Amino acid sequence: MTKLAIIGSGLAGKLAALYFSRYIKDIELVVIDPRKDNLPIVGESTVEITAQFLKSLDLSRHLEEEHYHKYGLTYYFRTDGDEDGYDYALHEAPGVIRLPAYNLNRWKFDRELTRRLEGRIVDIHGKVADIAIAPKASGRRHSVKVMQDDVRELTLEVDYIVDTSGRSRFLANKLSLKKAPAYQRSSYWLRLEDFDRETLTSINARKIRHHCFDSYYVTHHFYGHGYWIWIIPMRSENSKDLLSFGYTYRPEICGEKVMSFDRLCEILKRDHPPLEAFLRSGKVIDETRYYNYMYESEKYYSMDGWFLLGDAAFTFDPANSAGIAYLSHQIPQIASFVLKDRVGTLTEGYIASLEKHLRAQLALQDTWSCWYAFMKSPIKMAWTLLLANMGYFHIVVPNYMSGAFLNGAVARQFAKLVPRHEPSSQPAVYPFASLLDEIEATTDQKQVAKVIPALYEYTVPFSYYRPDGVSRSRLAARYFFKRAGLRLKAMAMLSWRPSLHHLKLFIRHGSGAVGDYLQAAFLSAFPLAYARNERAGGEDESAFVPPHRFLGLDRHDVEGDTHPTTMDASMTPMLPRDVT
Ligand SMILES: Cc1cc2nc3c(=O)[nH]c(=O)nc-3n(C[C@H](O)[C@H](O)[C@H](O)COP(=O)(O)OP(=O)(O)OC[C@H]3O[C@@H](n4cnc5c(N)ncnc54)[C@H](O)[C@@H]3O)c2cc1C
Repeated sequence: MTKLAIIGSGLAGKLAALYFSRYIKDIELVVIDPRKDNLPIVGESTVEITAQFLKSLDLSRHLEEEHYHKYGLTYYFRTDGDEDGYDYALHEAPGVIRLPAYNLNRWKFDRELTRRLEGRIVDIHGKVADIAIAPKASGRRHSVKVMQDDVRELTLEVDYIVDTSGRSRFLANKLSLKKAPAYQRSSYWLRLEDFDRETLTSINARKIRHHCFDSYYVTHHFYGHGYWIWIIPMRSENSKDLLSFGYTYRPEICGEKVMSFDRLCEILKRDHPPLEAFLRSGKVIDETRYYNYMYESEKYYSMDGWFLLGDAAFTFDPANSAGIAYLSHQIPQIASFVLKDRVGTLTEGYIASLEKHLRAQLALQDTWSCWYAFMKSPIKMAWTLLLANMGYFHIVVPNYMSGAFLNGAVARQFAKLVPRHEPSSQPAVYPFASLLDEIEATTDQKQVAKVIPALYEYTVPFSYYRPDGVSRSRLAARYFFKRAGLRLKAMAMLSWRPSLHHLKLFIRHGSGAVGDYLQAAFLSAFPLAYARNERAGGEDESAFVPPHRFLGLDRHDVEGDTHPTTMDASMTPMLPRDVT
């Protein structure tokens, strides 16, 4: 029987073990962890991709019953001096997005994962002390030495190793794979209980009034110079109000190095007075600091059968709640490697392509790193988030839901769309750069809220909720079509005057919009120009057939599929019970 060792039983280790136990048949999973129960955890806020992944693990009911729904896309932009007397412009989802997301209470969530793993894994309390990696060509197994305490030692022979040892980075250390990040970050966060909800929900903000959901049940994002703030409400276990409050910053931009509750309150008093009152209204349960915590690795996946996952691989900015979404990509990728390897179809090329996909996500991280320079600007930040979220819903989510991201050719296509740049040559990371610069320079402070319209009704594809619902190409075409529309909308917000500068702006952005319309028309007329990659077959093919089967969605759940087959006859037929 195939034997796979998982080093570490944090979030990454637990989710990987649960996924492999459901989707790879005839596998023995050994999970090794010394079990220190004092790991700093956050909240966490999830996104749609994460929720789809968790539902593929049959966690649907647990999410509904033990956690809060997250009604996504809530951003507060400070617009002091607004002529209508508002302090903030608040952007929210225009109703309930079909694909759900949740705000997790990690303490409850991790307990549930542990419970579900009982009987599915060999659970070893101990610390991995050494590993001898056996090259694939040797035909031998890897040897893992575990210290169960100071004297008791155990040696395991395994076929695959998944390193989820978090910030101790066992394999990156062992194999000298540590790589410096392009940008650094620090974060300070705390859990707060028994606070005055009203201080938060009655912030004086301009927003579209609605009765679609209660605006407390979201992840609240605030911005300032070189930092952003998250507020994640969680369902508590003692019925008291509970949330995670975090401050993430680039020290060299905002000028802060170390952070404390008192210093945070001073910053809030200066930039977001209602938040200071809100923080002081509650009781701090615990607090955590990570200073300059970013890092990467030279390599993440190997043909020799070892894989870095979660914080053992790289760290990232928690902006946009992407953390568990990265795990949701990486875990099926590793499953695909193992399944293909067992039937002899895994190639270096396939591994390299999926690693390129992962690096493209780090390229997106680079752009988020650059957001800190203009986070204080409501105009640049609001438009950036509009476009970034539109790209996420039209490109990233469909690539994920369809399983296309597990195809090597699609992974390379995505990597081409999101190239990585050196910090010194990073192009502008906000959309329609020269146009927004001009809008910002010429807009009266009183009018700022009017040039940052909440357009999520336009930018979120409400019709999309199943892999077969709308084709990837059509969504990509819509992305370009809508981007042209947004650019024209932004152009309409500038007070044009007869000058050479404005003529140049008009030509540049007018032709940008025309270019996007042409791109949209091309993709609508020739959808295969975008989607042919996923049909490439050969070494690029995902181990999951049809590809969306990695989420447990089978032909009974998805119209249009006739005879799903498995590349690996030993792939588990076990499917989530409550995937709908
Ligand atoms: C500030 C911040 C905010 C975040 N917010 C969000 C969010 O809102 N949404 C989201 O999706 N994600 C978020 N994340 C990401 C997410 O919380 C982390 O990525 C995740 O918890 C990391 O899990 P992990 O299992 O990789 O590492 P860990 O939780 O650190 O687990 C590592 C495990 O490995 C074990 N271990 C270490 N060394 C060894 C060894 N030698 N042998 C055996 N075991 C070993 C440890 O005991 C531990 O149990 C955030 C992260 C940060 C830093």
